[in-house]
Amino acid sequence: MKKLSNFIGGVFSEPLSKNYLESLSPITGEVHCLIPDSDSFDVDAAVRAAITAQPQWNAFGRAGRARLLHRIADLLEARMDEFALAEVSDQGKTFQQARHFEMPRSVRNLRFFADLVVSDGFIRGSIMTQVEAPTLNGEYKIIAESVAQREPVGVAGIIVPWNLPLYLLTWKIAPALAMGNTVVAKPSELTSLTAFMLAELVQEAQLLPGVLNIVFGRGPSAGEALVSHPDVTAIAFTGGTLTGRRIASLAGSFGKKVSLELGGKNPSIVFADCPDLFDAVKTNVRAAFSNQGEICLCCSRIYVQQAIYDDFVRQFAKETETIVRKGETIGALISRQHLEKVRGYVEEARATGASILECEIEKSSDGYYMNPTIICGLSDKSRLWKEEIFGPVVCIKPFSGEEKESIMLANDTEYGLAASIWTRDMAKAQRLARQIKAGTIWINCWMVRDLAAPFGGMKASGHGREGGIYSLDFFSEFKTITSLNT
Ligand code: NAD
Repeated sequence: MKKLSNFIGGVFSEPLSKNYLESLSPITGEVHCLIPDSDSFDVDAAVRAAITAQPQWNAFGRAGRARLLHRIADLLEARMDEFALAEVSDQGKTFQQARHFEMPRSVRNLRFFADLVVSDGFIRGSIMTQVEAPTLNGEYKIIAESVAQREPVGVAGIIVPWNLPLYLLTWKIAPALAMGNTVVAKPSELTSLTAFMLAELVQEAQLLPGVLNIVFGRGPSAGEALVSHPDVTAIAFTGGTLTGRRIASLAGSFGKKVSLELGGKNPSIVFADCPDLFDAVKTNVRAAFSNQGEICLCCSRIYVQQAIYDDFVRQFAKETETIVRKGETIGALISRQHLEKVRGYVEEARATGASILECEIEKSSDGYYMNPTIICGLSDKSRLWKEEIFGPVVCIKPFSGEEKESIMLANDTEYGLAASIWTRDMAKAQRLARQIKAGTIWINCWMVRDLAAPFGGMKASGHGREGGIYSLDFFSEFKTITSLNT
């Protein structure tokens, strides 16, 4: 069994308390590694290493830092199979999802931000201006020159969840490091393995010790110690909404910068004039069940115009059976506790008389597997329409086709992460897109993303935007330097 270590100052080390947590594999339900149960002393050691390394790392310059990020990306790219297998046993996802979606994207995250800092994009906002002041005769005269330039924030704290472990870790460490910050990261205590393997690559790439530090452990201990550490100037968090609120209040009391990427309850609105019904069905099945529904952007409620509702549901069930047969989408859920929570929602729907269709999956072991589940005829009052379920469960209901009704349905939740609209009437789609309160709106597609685009949620789905230059904005501060003309 693998015993993980913290990675602090370029060295693998035991937690100071010598306490470890058992990490279970969702596909077997058995302990498959031990992870450090770190506390504030470990976090403090990591922050001190990060503070020491930061000036030297920043002095590498943008090109030097980009070169090292590419070196780590090269090493990861060469071992994507190994990393994908580790993610499968640690998170429960399918090999297909890990190897063909998450690992290439993790490599891309590193390369994308390495390239961005050496491109013109970096310069955005780094302006030179001439400062004017009135003279005695009332005319204006240029008296000084100002330059605004980006500087790193210092030490960035990064906390990520269990659903896309390496993908989300690299999504945040790449811009933070490219910008000249040093990092202390805390992965989820449920999925620490690929972060540990990344630390091994970082050591192999000979990144300056202390530039990337990884401390493993639980949220209330290691996580809160990181958020509350006075020398950590910015916290980038992805995870649940309640945790995000706790982090925002803790970090707020120190006046820290905070970026929050939180939960979602994403609607899909399918009109009878969608460009291709079969295509809409296929994409919505993928949107509902990719990574067994454990993606913040998964669609968990579908509103279908009455005229095509029966057809849509019939084809949706058939397509779900097809993907189940292929065995590519449905892995195990992250934990027994989460499986019970998700099943609880389905049982609640059943008890209120909703019709439940489960597509039987082949279970290879005693892991935390759950059949993809389609719920129709659910009461409008059910909390399943509003709460994030985060599992392979989708609710489908008909609507009249009126724009007003579809907007009301889409916005009828505290979340505002993403939505998709299916129609060939582009003017209607644009009207809806403007009125649905969500950070990302897809028209006739799902999960089509440009890493340069701003990404984030509205309402309870988050605060701030990441992606491209928006990530660099978060991990930097502008400083304006003005010198008087002599
Ligand atoms: P979670 O909030 O329970 O945990 C996320 C991370 O926060 C973990 O590393 C955890 O250890 C840490 N943590 C927990 N309590 C903490 C505290 N008090 N202080 C500091 N850190 C703490 O979330 P989860 O269950 O791991 O992940 C699932 C959630 O993440 C879902 O709600 C999902 O929608 C969301 N998510 C959002 C996005 C997005 O981009 N918006 C992406 C992926 C996942």
